Order: sequence, then C-alpha cells, then structure tokens
Amino acid sequence: MNTPLLLEHLFEYGETYYPKKEIVSRTHEGIVRYTYAEFAQRTRRLSSALAKLGVEPGDRVGTFSWNDHRHLEAYFAIPCMGSVLHTVNIRLAPDQIAYIINHAEDKVLLVDADLAKLLEPIRDKLPTVKAFVLMGDQINPSDSVLQPAYSYETLLAESNPEFTYPTNLDENSPMGMCYTSATTGNPKGVVYSHRGIYLHSMSMGLANSSALSENDTVMPVVPMFHANAWGMPFAAIWFGAKVVLPGPAPTPAILLDLIAQERVTVAAGVPTVWLGFLQELESRPQPLALRMVLCGGSAAPASLIRAYEERHGIPFVHAYGMTETSPLATFSRLKSYQQSLSEAERLKIRASQGLLVPGLAMRLVNEQGDVPWDGTQMGELLLRGPWIADEYYRDERTKDTFIDGWLHTGDVATVDAEGFVRLVDRTKDLIKSGGEWISSVDLENAIMGHPAVLEAAVVGVAHPKWDERPLAFVVLKPNQTVTKEELQDFLKDQFAKWWLPDDVVFLEEIPKTSVGKFMKRALRDRYHNYLSGEPDGNPS
Ligand code: ADP
Repeated sequence: MNTPLLLEHLFEYGETYYPKKEIVSRTHEGIVRYTYAEFAQRTRRLSSALAKLGVEPGDRVGTFSWNDHRHLEAYFAIPCMGSVLHTVNIRLAPDQIAYIINHAEDKVLLVDADLAKLLEPIRDKLPTVKAFVLMGDQINPSDSVLQPAYSYETLLAESNPEFTYPTNLDENSPMGMCYTSATTGNPKGVVYSHRGIYLHSMSMGLANSSALSENDTVMPVVPMFHANAWGMPFAAIWFGAKVVLPGPAPTPAILLDLIAQERVTVAAGVPTVWLGFLQELESRPQPLALRMVLCGGSAAPASLIRAYEERHGIPFVHAYGMTETSPLATFSRLKSYQQSLSEAERLKIRASQGLLVPGLAMRLVNEQGDVPWDGTQMGELLLRGPWIADEYYRDERTKDTFIDGWLHTGDVATVDAEGFVRLVDRTKDLIKSGGEWISSVDLENAIMGHPAVLEAAVVGVAHPKWDERPLAFVVLKPNQTVTKEELQDFLKDQFAKWWLPDDVVFLEEIPKTSVGKFMKRALRDRYHNYLSGEPDGNPS
C-alpha cells in the first residue's frame, strides 16, 4: 500500500504500544520523570497550543533549548501537526542566530527560559517571530523582554490533550530544518522531509547500524539543536526505548551519574565528550550498563576506542555523518569474518568511519572520475539516498554541493576493498605541504594515543618553503608532562618524516565549535604566521 511515511506514525506507535515506558529529563529545577502516556498527552497539548497561536502546516517553529523533555515534546508536536521543527543552535553568535531565524522565517520560538537572555539583544531583529513560548517551571511572561511571551506550561494546561494529527500529509513535505556552519558566509539551511526522517529512524533500528530497540535506554548527549540529535529521539520514541535527556550544560560528572543511575545502554556524542567522560570514569571507575557508546561528528581516535573497550569493557562504535545526511551515513562495525583479524587490524578498521548504512549509496571521486576502492587512493566522498538533503534552503550555494543527484560532502576519504570509508580530512583541513597532502586527522589521532595527551589538533600554517606545514596543538592530561621532542619521537615510527608536525604548541584548552568539535579555523587564523620566521609570527 502506498501509505505516506509520516512522523505522526512514529509518535502514535510509541504512544499506543509503550505507554508505560519512561522518559527522564534533567532540567534546571531537577529531574523530571514521566511516562510515554504523559509525554504523548503533553505533545498533543503542545500542538493544540501552537495551533491556537496561529501555527499552520508548513510554518516554521523554532526551538532554542537544551536536551530536555520539553524539547522532546517539540520534536514531535511540531512535525506531527505538519509544521516544521527548526532547531536553532544556542551556541551561535547573536548575528548568526538572527540570520537563521529570519532566513527560516520562524513564526513561533520555543525558548528555554534560562536561554532567553541570549535572544533579548536581537529581539528587534526578528520580525517574523509572532510569539515566544518560554519553557521552565516558574514563568512570568509579562516579565520577559521577549514579547509577546507565553508560558509553555500555562499554554499546555489550557490546551487539548486529544489534539489529532493529519494523516494525509505529503511524505515529502518538510518536517524539520537545521542550519550547518559554512566555511565562509552565513550558515546553510538543511530541510528534512517526513519520509527522510522516517527512513533514517528505521535504519537506526537495524542491527548493522545502532540496533536501537525497546530494550535500550537511550541518551543523546549530542545537542538536540544539532542534526536531529543524530536521529535518536525519533527512533527511540518509535521503538519504545527509555529516554534519558541530560539537560542544561551537562558535565562529565553529570553524565556519569545519569548513565550509572538510569542504566543507560546507548549514549551518543562527539569525541570531545567521550574524552572528557573517560577522564571522569577513570577517576570513578564503576560498572555501567552501556552496550554502546556511539561516537561521531569528528574522527574518534583509535586510542579512545581502545581505552573504552579494554579498560572499561564498553563497546565503542564510530559513526560518520553530516547535518545534510540527517545525519547517520556510516557505522564502523566489523564484518563477521573480520573478527578473526589481529587486534591491531581490527582496531584499524573500527577507527575508520565504517560501512555505508543500508539504504544509501556512495561514490569516491577526484577530478578524473571515480577513484578505485583500494584503501589508498583518495577522493571526495559523494552520498545519495532517501535521508540525504538535496539542497540548501533558499541558498545559491546549493549548486556547489548538490550536483547531478549527489551530495558532495567536502570530505576526502579512501575506501578499502571491503567498502570501509576512512576519512582523510575535510577538504578545508587538509595540509598541503610542498604539493603533497598531509592528513591532520591521522596526526591528531596518533598524538591523542600518547598517554600524557588529552586532546590534540593539527592545522596547516604558512611556511616560506613548503607553503604549509603541520603545527600541532596539545592539551595534556592533569599532572602529565611531555616535551615537543618526545612527542615527535613518539610519532616518528608511525609517519613519513615529512608528515611530522614542525612544532608543538601546548594549550590549556583547544577552542571548540558550538557542537564540541575542534575549531581548527580559529587555530589556523591565530597561528597562521607561527612558522614564518617573522618576529610577530609567534602569538604567544
Ligand atoms: P559542521 O560543519 O558544523 O561541523 P556537521 O555536524 O554537519 O557540521 O559536520 C559534518 C562533518 O563532520 C563531516 O563532513 C565530517 O567532516 C565531520 N565528521 C562527522 N563525523 C565524523 C567522523 N566520524 N570522523 C571524522 N569526521 C567526521
């Protein structure tokens, strides 16, 4: 039967078959714990309240919040009523926030009351926003600078818990959108369809990917304002998993307590999250129920994978994706016959970005055309499939990225004969030394394998002879020391001599992007002349 693939089906399935399952949410006021039945009722109430505020199918409704139960309600209430869930990144600069709210033409914004202050200075620049709904326990809307303001809880109390959802929407209609950072210029809008997210959620239940099921207790650490929190909220509610939401600014200590107390089985986040968490776990070792740490967003160092598995018995799975890919595109799981490989070979495969998720297609291309899958020749990774975006929303940069039905990822990779993708670098992060490419990612991962190193980033900086040379930035673990020479020595057996970083800069902290990735652009800008030999070349 040609039934449309709609978000409403996911929601109603969870509501009907798993009413007793639990959602646990860390909020400013404490832990909130309720059932799917209550969640579903509040979600319907929210849709009813939004309809009363004038939100119609197709209208964009923004969210500006942490990972908590109200954000989860919005994740379903907005798309199920046919409107578009626009998750706004709370960590962007005010001008960028204003740009994306205006570009998306958000009609209503659901705002965590504690984050309202970030929007206050730009209120006058947001002409399309007709209402601010403030999320929190104790809200007095008349006190807010953001007018017209409403209390989320008051709106819900006054609305219809039996609000019904349309079942005849076009499955290709938009259900959500998220803006992704651009190398230059404003963020670019990615629009998700009901069909795309439905199929992406289904793929998360596949054993070849994350195998999410009712048995799981799922915790997205990745912010819900970023790339659908990797699809976990949608899949979890569909499959009836217990959901644990870590709330405002979770620290490693908070995460460890929640994961231990709530017996979380699957948690997802970027490598910096798992590096910090590992430190915490090492200081308070304890048995955890985690059956999988899902790590993506930037490359997971092999040493990190090994530390989780060998020292703590926690399976660590590396995945790759982009905002444009909903986001999950590859998962690194060994094939059955690879289990008998040596430990080093297994780890090497597991540290790669992995195999394409069933349902997608990929190519590896360079200027000459398709590159052979031999594990050494590099090319740009191209993707297509039902949950891959096909344009940037009202943006002429579409034509640079979506070409002849393929998403050009901007990621340079190799693919081996088994089909495993290994990302060499982002095109913009590759270091071009004397006309040859050096992978910043490979160097970083190797440096992070040194026992004294907590974090490492490598960028290309200007060099009078070689055009660009690698410069390493290193953050040490507490009470550890290592010298530049020792680090270079540590790397020398793993890389050709000309790959070794010319210098190592020790930092207290590596600057991070809004979603916790190393902000290499900031390092490149600041240290551009570090190796130039000019007197002002050294910023320290
Ligand atoms: P942003 O550009 O703001 O980082 P995205 O979250 O969409 O936005 O980032 C997608 C990019 O992140 C990918 O193109 C890739 O370069 C990088 N990435 C994602 N997952 C991985 C991974 N597992 N290993 C290496 N790089 C990754």
